[in-house]
Amino acid sequence: MPAATFPIVMNAVVAALFAASYLALALLHRGNTAPLWFAASFGAIVITPLALLAQSYTGWVVLFAPVIYLSFAACLILMVPGLAVLYRKPIPWGLVTVLGIVTVVSAALALQLPVNTLVRVVSYQTPFVLATAASCWVVLRDSPRRLRDLLLAGLFALLCMHVPLKAALAISLHTGPHQINYMDTPFAVVAQISTGILMVATGLLILVISVLELVRETLEVADTDALSGLLNRRGFEQRASDLVHGRTGAAPFALLLIDIDHFKAINDTFGHGVGDQTIRGFGDMLQHTLPQSALIGRVGGEEFAILLERASPEMARLQAESVRLAIIGHDDPDVPPFTVSIGVALASREEPLLATLERADAALYEAKRSGRNRVCCAEEETLPHNVVPLRR
Ligand code: GH3
Ligand code: MG
Ligand code: MG
Repeated sequence: MPAATFPIVMNAVVAALFAASYLALALLHRGNTAPLWFAASFGAIVITPLALLAQSYTGWVVLFAPVIYLSFAACLILMVPGLAVLYRKPIPWGLVTVLGIVTVVSAALALQLPVNTLVRVVSYQTPFVLATAASCWVVLRDSPRRLRDLLLAGLFALLCMHVPLKAALAISLHTGPHQINYMDTPFAVVAQISTGILMVATGLLILVISVLELVRETLEVADTDALSGLLNRRGFEQRASDLVHGRTGAAPFALLLIDIDHFKAINDTFGHGVGDQTIRGFGDMLQHTLPQSALIGRVGGEEFAILLERASPEMARLQAESVRLAIIGHDDPDVPPFTVSIGVALASREEPLLATLERADAALYEAKRSGRNRVCCAEEETLPHNVVPLRR
């Protein structure tokens, strides 16, 4: 059995396993087409080693040489749109088209030329060098350049450099591609193993990045309220607790609990759809009114929570009043007039977040009890005497 048979068969099996894994991921992650591109890419490269085997055993170079060439090129080119979609950027169709045209032209040229000549090797390898360089460029351009993304760009750079190195070795050993005795040459063993290792490393790293992306998106959905697009209770409590009790937040913190007044009457009078629109509109308004650093969540039906950083007691009350007044002055034609009641409590590293939420809730209850459309603070006594509440 020729020496290169084993690595060639291994490469076909591993590529098929990768294609199957990406297909399974595509089924799990239906909103994202990136795994489908990678499944197609690894599906294409299953053909390359099988065609190499068939060529060696049948001697039909005219039939199999173009299949070997085009399937390998297709595998590398299909990575480019896959990577762009993986990183949520538009597919560079212009680049993909150019790569496709260069491949067809190179195939037509290179396969006519005698093997082991420099001109054949250059035209043969050009599409592979360009496609791997394009993938490296797409990763560097589109990814957030975390360690894993830089590793992936590095792997594509290695694949890119490995192609001309392989060709130089082929010329020096006088074993250019598509010879009938290719399978018996030491070049074939080296080329199949080195390409196999690089492709496995690349496929594995892309698979890991895709799975991490899926987990991140799933967690994001689990923490997001579908109606308002804000954090839900789970997401808000987790992030607020991280900010107050972790190292990243900027103390002092204030917690605002906001409840729409007589919301049931809005539903009863205008219908549930208008009620929903009111919740959405209020969420948008909070995002426009509050500072960018404010953490905003919808923690109940018509109840919202806000965590403010660098918020002294008087700042917290002023922010709460600005929300209350912005609602009274809103001019959204799709939302009926309404008011809100707000409870404010100061958060501290010493107190669990749930305890702060309970004190804000008690202040909110007080605002409701004393007539609604007002702000009440849990730490009323901590307000300096020279600060006059805007409205009580
Ligand atoms: P209060 O001033 O005391 O807060 O009175 P309220 O009517 O606002 O409060 P109540 O708790 O009596 O009613 C809240 C209503 O909010 C009841 C519920 O049907 C409605 N609600 C909860 N979630 C949604 C939602 O997602 N969409 C709509 N349209 N209504 C919701
Ligand atoms: Mg209410
Ligand atoms: Mg309520």
